[in-house]
Amino acid sequence: MSDLIEQLEGVLDTGLIRGDAERAARARDTWMRSEMRREEGHLELPLAVAAPADTQQMSQVVEICRAHGVKMIARGGGSGVVGGVLASADSVVISTERMTGMRSLDSHNLLATFGAGTNGYEAEMLVQAEGLTIGNWPQSIELSTVGGWVATRASGQYSTAYGNTEDVVHSLKAVLPDGSIYRSRATPRASAGPDLRQLFLGGEGTMGIVTEVTFSLRPLPEPGVRQAFHFDDFEAGLEAIREVIRPGWRPPVVRLYDGRESWRHFRDQLPKGNAMLIFLHEGPPGLAPLQAAAAEKVCVSHGGVAAAADVVDAWFDSRNSVPSWEELLSQGVLADTIEVATDWTRLPALYKAVTEAISAVPGVIAATAHTSHSYRSGANLYFTFAAMPAERGDFVSTYDQCWRAAMEAAAEVGAGLAHHHGVGRVRRDWMAVELGETGLDMLRSIKRALDPNGLMNPGVLIGDDTP
Ligand SMILES: Cc1cc2nc3c(=O)[nH]c(=O)nc-3n(C[C@H](O)[C@H](O)[C@H](O)COP(=O)(O)OP(=O)(O)OC[C@H]3O[C@@H](n4cnc5c(N)ncnc54)[C@H](O)[C@@H]3O)c2cc1C
Repeated sequence: MSDLIEQLEGVLDTGLIRGDAERAARARDTWMRSEMRREEGHLELPLAVAAPADTQQMSQVVEICRAHGVKMIARGGGSGVVGGVLASADSVVISTERMTGMRSLDSHNLLATFGAGTNGYEAEMLVQAEGLTIGNWPQSIELSTVGGWVATRASGQYSTAYGNTEDVVHSLKAVLPDGSIYRSRATPRASAGPDLRQLFLGGEGTMGIVTEVTFSLRPLPEPGVRQAFHFDDFEAGLEAIREVIRPGWRPPVVRLYDGRESWRHFRDQLPKGNAMLIFLHEGPPGLAPLQAAAAEKVCVSHGGVAAAADVVDAWFDSRNSVPSWEELLSQGVLADTIEVATDWTRLPALYKAVTEAISAVPGVIAATAHTSHSYRSGANLYFTFAAMPAERGDFVSTYDQCWRAAMEAAAEVGAGLAHHHGVGRVRRDWMAVELGETGLDMLRSIKRALDPNGLMNPGVLIGDDTP
């Protein structure tokens, strides 16, 4: 391995990171299970962290690792929550942390190109300075990179109007597992066979490493109209959303919280009701008031009662603050979130099945949900669970049971098993359900063709050659 290190150092110089603390800080993402395992003393350090400065260096680094048969773990901000980054002692973590900044901005054609390691919030602020927006606001915007968004198909809080990552990516550059460089054609749309960008949109570091991302931007809208309604129950709120979306209204933010979550987030503003629905309406001048009026009509017809708009202000003020796993574990609590999606017809059954299945796991103290991303034909449900197992030794098994209960219940209802956090390690055993056996075989064949030795992020997405 000294040969490997020497060659990587030759290319990267100080971009090769070898200190223990530095390797430990980059050895994993924000998966709750990894945090519990770390507390139990299980944390492998990679051989080194390679941080190339540009696509050319990335290509050289990948070529060196491939020639040495060393596993390569791509890492952006490390905010992933499904175990997509988990180093082993025989791996090199390839970090995009030096591939930062805006490479170009073309406001006439609404395009901006960033190094894949650019922090999401910094990217958004750079285009906002020009009166434009990417419009992709994952809750982790300050923790994640634009390359990570691509690799996980991340969803932002404004997705109902502006779409998810796959809808705002115009083109990209990536280094394949053999070191070659792929560039998608910079064109607004193509009818030239399958869209190869999709191999990287959700590739989770298994098909190649994204080095540059070009977004298709929007003009920054005027400040919008904020609205909130209480409903007697979650189901009535879901039905109201379906009817708002159906004719074509697209409020960027549409979030409906069940009773327990409404109490958790809005207890001071909850005069009535078991579910709180909030909207942000914005868009081209004149759209927001029209859309808000249409949404109000629908909500009232479903028994919705208008709440003060400062409910939405409160949500905006606190929308990105969540306790860390470490904090929760120190209080004896384990928790996680699980996002799935289905059509409007099945959403109520999905809500019931998953909350009941998780609640039945011994030690569980809460299983709640909200919806945060709506589409013409359905929406997501974002479940949060918390458990306090009596014994510290039962934490990991309780966690695994909760996930299994949720995935099985969602599969039984016929839902899509992963809305936006990705697959990582936590969902890989359900990929045959999600893609079908034939679909999973197709994915394996593509992976084998691109990465015959299975060196890029093994164990993630396709659970074949798990370390
Ligand atoms: C508090 C919190 C809130 C969150 N909120 C949201 C949310 O609202 N919406 C949402 O979608 N997600 C959310 N997430 C999950 C996470 O932030 C996203 O999945 C994000 O896209 C990950 O980006 P990252 O740069 O941190 O990637 P990492 O965690 O570093 O990596 C994630 C995966 O992508 C791969 N990868 C990273 N960079 C590259 C690259 N350049 N090329 C190829 N593969 C790469 C890694 O190998 C890994 O498999 C949240 C997470 C936290 C902790």
